[in-house]
Amino acid sequence: MTDDLFHLTAPWAQQLNADTRELDAAGAFPHDKWKVLQETGLLRTHFAPEFGGAGHGVTATMRALEGLGYVCHDAGLSFSASTQIVSVGVPLQRFGSQELKERHLPRIMSGEAITAHAITEESGGSDAMNLAATARRDGDHYVVSGGKMFITNAPVADLFLLYVRTGKPGPFGLTTLLVEAATPGLTAGPAMDKIGLRTSPVGTLSFDELRVPVSQRVGQEGTGFLILDHVMKREVLFGFSITLGEMTRRLEETIAYAGKRHQFGQPIGSYQAVSHKIADMKMRVETARKWLADTGVKVEAGQDASLDLAATKTIVSEANVQTALDAVQIHGGRGVLTEHGIERDLRNSIAGTIYSGTSEIQRNRIATLLGL
Ligand SMILES: Cc1cc2nc3c(=O)[nH]c(=O)nc-3n(C[C@H](O)[C@H](O)[C@H](O)COP(=O)(O)OP(=O)(O)OC[C@H]3O[C@@H](n4cnc5c(N)ncnc54)[C@H](O)[C@@H]3O)c2cc1C
Repeated sequence: MTDDLFHLTAPWAQQLNADTRELDAAGAFPHDKWKVLQETGLLRTHFAPEFGGAGHGVTATMRALEGLGYVCHDAGLSFSASTQIVSVGVPLQRFGSQELKERHLPRIMSGEAITAHAITEESGGSDAMNLAATARRDGDHYVVSGGKMFITNAPVADLFLLYVRTGKPGPFGLTTLLVEAATPGLTAGPAMDKIGLRTSPVGTLSFDELRVPVSQRVGQEGTGFLILDHVMKREVLFGFSITLGEMTRRLEETIAYAGKRHQFGQPIGSYQAVSHKIADMKMRVETARKWLADTGVKVEAGQDASLDLAATKTIVSEANVQTALDAVQIHGGRGVLTEHGIERDLRNSIAGTIYSGTSEIQRNRIATLLGL
């Protein structure tokens, strides 16, 4: 079953990889490829059959997403897909009312409604528990004011999960609200230009007297922190399973290149300076695989995996940057030409040490859990 899931998106490889270089240069969201992704059924993997999902757990979904990363050279598209699964669908499935689930889960898992979640603000992302956007109660509505920043999918999204403050400062004053993009008072800014993941649009949101019915609250008032904790576990495991697939492909391509590229009458892979780099790439990829697998099993079993998640996120994202750098070096001049896609891999890897909690914040968490 899990191997079937790994190969789920493989039959669409050609469509998923069409024009990747041009779309990356344009920084354009690939709407046509999103339709292909809808066809693959990948977006349904993790959701309950009663709403039209395939009903797979955490580790099986990770395997399907690893397969996407392996097949799809458009890392921005893959990143938007993982945001689609975790941002609204995951919290709705776990904490949403029956009415909200029936109304929205089918259109989320089909990919018809593109989704985003909004936590980060201009004033900060690392200190997310102190976010400032507020929602005050006015009868059977909340009135939201403030703004958000760096929101993946925001420029193309139909549905948002907003993390806002309804109560006291700190984590227990946070609440989550489900909002349609077309709601008056909600404005999504244009896609912001960035170094990598360029086909995954990131943008701002601003709220001006945005009225949201209380019935669109997900979970109880003041439980936004718990919802975010549930979401972030899956965001790390799902998003970085895609990264594992991408790193595996990169390693295979680099081994093949080192075997066929000759200098001084020999394949460059026969030189220890090159082969040791590849050995390091292999160790990084397999370390990433083991951490993801172990942590996925723990999360699926409902065990405490706080330290494991922080370590997994840091290890995989940093392995991605380092293996991308190694691949550029081993490909020589071809490594920096856009036509081969090796430099794109490096640009795409950079943001991974920042989103979903920076490397510094993950190390802080590990140190705290060690009693430091
Ligand atoms: C491609 C991309 C997609 C994103 N998608 C989303 C999204 O969909 N939704 C969303 O809500 N957000 C999203 N983000 C935002 C992301 O979560 C934040 O950028 C991240 O949490 C860091 O916040 P910041 O940018 O405000 O940096 P800051 O928090 O200002 O941090 C700046 C630097 O200071 C360091 N630092 C801060 N505090 C400490 C500390 N206590 N100890 C040590 N070092 C510290 C950080 O590690 C970092 O190096 C996305 C970001 C990117 C790049």
